[in-house]
Amino acid sequence: MITTVILGMLCVYLLCFSVMFLLISTRLADKKMGMDVFALGNLLLGLAYIMQLVDGPPDFGLMSVVNHILTLSAPVTYLLGALRFFGRPTPIVRSLLTLAALYAAVQLLVQWLFGDEARHALLAGACVLLFLGMIIALLVGSRTFAKDLCVEMLVFAVLISGICALNAAKFVMILSGGMAALDMSSGFQRIFYLYMSFLATVLPPCAVWLVLRRLTDELRSLAAHDPLTQLLNRRGLIEALEVHFSSRTAAPAYVLIVDIDHFKRINDTHGHKVGDLVICHVADALKTTARQGDLICRLGGEEFVVIALDAEKTGVLQLAERMRRAIERIEVPGSNQTIRCTGTIGVSAHFTSAQAFDDFLQQADAALYRGKEAGRNRVEWVLREV
Ligand code: GH3
Ligand code: MG
Ligand code: MG
Repeated sequence: MITTVILGMLCVYLLCFSVMFLLISTRLADKKMGMDVFALGNLLLGLAYIMQLVDGPPDFGLMSVVNHILTLSAPVTYLLGALRFFGRPTPIVRSLLTLAALYAAVQLLVQWLFGDEARHALLAGACVLLFLGMIIALLVGSRTFAKDLCVEMLVFAVLISGICALNAAKFVMILSGGMAALDMSSGFQRIFYLYMSFLATVLPPCAVWLVLRRLTDELRSLAAHDPLTQLLNRRGLIEALEVHFSSRTAAPAYVLIVDIDHFKRINDTHGHKVGDLVICHVADALKTTARQGDLICRLGGEEFVVIALDAEKTGVLQLAERMRRAIERIEVPGSNQTIRCTGTIGVSAHFTSAQAFDDFLQQADAALYRGKEAGRNRVEWVLREV
């Protein structure tokens, strides 16, 4: 009786959280992060347990075969949802229908060859293998593709280990003690469904937490980057400078301000879209010329800032000259001619704190202005160092 009540509660949790996942997925519009698939997983498992409640003792029949298919399909669906979360989309309906057809055939074969006990042991065994695969994927993920979610991956692995162990115990008990292992009044079944209820209560908020983390990380990244070039924007640059100078051993930095020459002409002659393309090419040229660790930012319009970290004056001037030449080499295909451009670069003296950035940006800007006055397409060093 107690186990039946636990099972009933479990169905309610699963269906409620299924609705919650579905609602969240509708808010995520084009990037659902697997939430819609998790909703389906919960629905399938909820339906399986409802059938178990309605069907009564675990005898062979259509209802029991369908129940086993749903029970196995649910974790597979969660796995497919997780793949979507990590940006590896896989077909859901086709995969689940194939699994259902295969597992129905295997069940009938096992039932015919070895009887009902073997069919139930098969389900427990298949679940063990599936959960083991999940645990391995989570452990590998925590060190590779989901390093940023390492703690979360380990928590999931621990939680899934519990249900894996319980299924392994069920498998052994069915093989050694027969169908008595599935008696709903047994202590084992009570523990099994209590743990399932625990998982059904704990895992959905964990999944929502993962989505929240991804969303806030994306928001933070959006706020720190320029959408056209994906370079840092001013806010992102200041944050990166604060991180750099927070280290006690931080080396001084130099500001290089890069401005495309006569850019207005490019816009006026070839249109704004081609102008944007030129901006992107210049951004790429700066990215490929900068040294590892240098910070590159699009300040706005056709102006860029490069922060040379861990460098001395000669190295910085060489870097600026390499950047000037890289911009000169750019060729942007236009409608009837190749578009070329040049850039002027102003370089500041070295500075040692994020707070000093604005002053040294002004210095670099003054040098840039002199470069423009002197004919453009050149590198100018600040005249008066502070
Ligand atoms: P100079 O050599 O003195 O730098 O001349 P310039 O024409 O490059 O300088 P100016 O600052 O007068 O022109 C910059 C132009 O850049 C004006 C503006 O319309 C254009 N612009 C600003 N932002 C964008 C953008 O995001 N895309 C495009 N295509 N054009 C932009
Ligand atoms: Mg310009
Ligand atoms: Mg400008």
